[in-house]
Amino acid sequence: MKESLYINGKWVAPQHGGTVKVTNPATGETVREIGYGGRADAVKAVAAAHDAFADWSAKTVYERAGLLLRLANLIRENADDLARVLTQEVGKPLGESRGEIGAGADQFEWYAEEVKRSAGDVIPNRMGDKRHLTIRHPVGPVAAIAPWNFPILLTARKIAPALAAGCTTIARPASQSCLTLLDMFRLLDAAGFPPGTANLLIGNPGECSEVFLEDPRLKKISFTGSLDVGRELYVECAKRMKKVSLELGGHSPFIVMPDMDPDEAAERAVFAKFRNMGQVCISASRFFVPNAMKAEFENKAAELASALAIGNGLDADTAVGPLFLPKRVEDTARFVEDIKSKGGRILCGGRAPEGEKYANGNFFMPTVATDVTRDMLIMNEEPFCPILPIIGYDDIDDALRMANDTPYGLAAYVATRRLDWAVKAAERLEAGIIGINDCTPAAAQCPFGGMKSSGVGREGWRQGLEGYYETKYISIGI
Ligand code: NAD
Repeated sequence: MKESLYINGKWVAPQHGGTVKVTNPATGETVREIGYGGRADAVKAVAAAHDAFADWSAKTVYERAGLLLRLANLIRENADDLARVLTQEVGKPLGESRGEIGAGADQFEWYAEEVKRSAGDVIPNRMGDKRHLTIRHPVGPVAAIAPWNFPILLTARKIAPALAAGCTTIARPASQSCLTLLDMFRLLDAAGFPPGTANLLIGNPGECSEVFLEDPRLKKISFTGSLDVGRELYVECAKRMKKVSLELGGHSPFIVMPDMDPDEAAERAVFAKFRNMGQVCISASRFFVPNAMKAEFENKAAELASALAIGNGLDADTAVGPLFLPKRVEDTARFVEDIKSKGGRILCGGRAPEGEKYANGNFFMPTVATDVTRDMLIMNEEPFCPILPIIGYDDIDDALRMANDTPYGLAAYVATRRLDWAVKAAERLEAGIIGINDCTPAAAQCPFGGMKSSGVGREGWRQGLEGYYETKYISIGI
């Protein structure tokens, strides 16, 4: 199907006629072959978003909110179908896919409600003959660039607040996992958004971002993805004084405090690690465990990780699916070899599973590694893989110091029942999101984003809207 670009309210084929195949990471089979655009399509999308902006931004927030709410409802009504497509293109088990579709709908619902409360201010005047007020002004057409791992949620986190604020949008997802988004845009079309308000551009990332950067009609780039690409975009936006927000990678610590039962802590750790096979930006990826309970924790974590059923995400009994790309399997094996070569121990997994069922997919066994040290690759690169690395500690201050010893600052997790330790850790950890006895803290109604190199700006909560507004101050002489 070549008509995979949704521009100005119409499904169109890319101008140069290119296509891209979306592959099922569990089977290696082509799920669909779709049109893949480039520079000329990006120019068309920017023009459409620009032309639609005046009318869309002039609508009342109640009109915009009504459409967002209709879309949220349509997504929920079609959640099962969307989830099946999502599992086929990303590989995550069906239950996780349903969770993502629900979380995507939550974004549209939350901003439909929140935008009605995004008022300006009336500011008390010092001079008797003046009055001062502020109003909110949408920044203009926005490009929303998102990665492959949560295609619906991450795009919704951008376009829901942007549309609510009165901006028009161009979603540019990763082409390798854009099918669910294509289906979501069919629902957006059915919801009745005016042409040009929300566009979908499947196409070459470099060519599209060049157009976004160069065209002055495009006012903002909202990016989620890797630190390397984010940094590049940040520099290029700075050169052009283009607004940008960045949601980048993470390397999240998970600190088990000394009061925890080791078995319970291991259960939580395994749950935190293997969701989407560790391919989550806020995935826990460094596990600090008191030396006094380390052996018990290791045994339980290895037992639980070994018991996770690996398979095609569409199968009901699958607990963990494949990795997204063959390259991720290679990277995971590289981390394993490095751990072994530097004195670490692999307690379970450490290789691809064997058997016909796994022959054509990007499978890797959930892996637990211990005696991990600071010099290992897994401690220095964002892992994005199914390895649970354990580091022993004796002193809580040391654990907190090691937890902060990374350029990233997206999320951090603490397992404890002691209030004083929980508070101390939450105050000292350098991360934008802290989960105390909570490994899935993300929610539309809460701020999401990173400190340090993990990003610039926040999505979610009312801060998610702020990024799509200019504050306009009006002074009136009377
Ligand atoms: P990536 O940076 O390679 O790609 C992200 C998006 O940018 C994709 O749509 C890609 O096509 C596009 N892109 C690639 N090169 C580009 C360029 N030169 N100009 C413009 N766009 C370009 O990231 P990835 O490997 O696909 O995704 C994984 C990364 O995303 C991890 O680092 C992960 O932590 C991060 N991530 C962050 C969050 C968050 O909210 N902080 C959420 C999910 C993923």
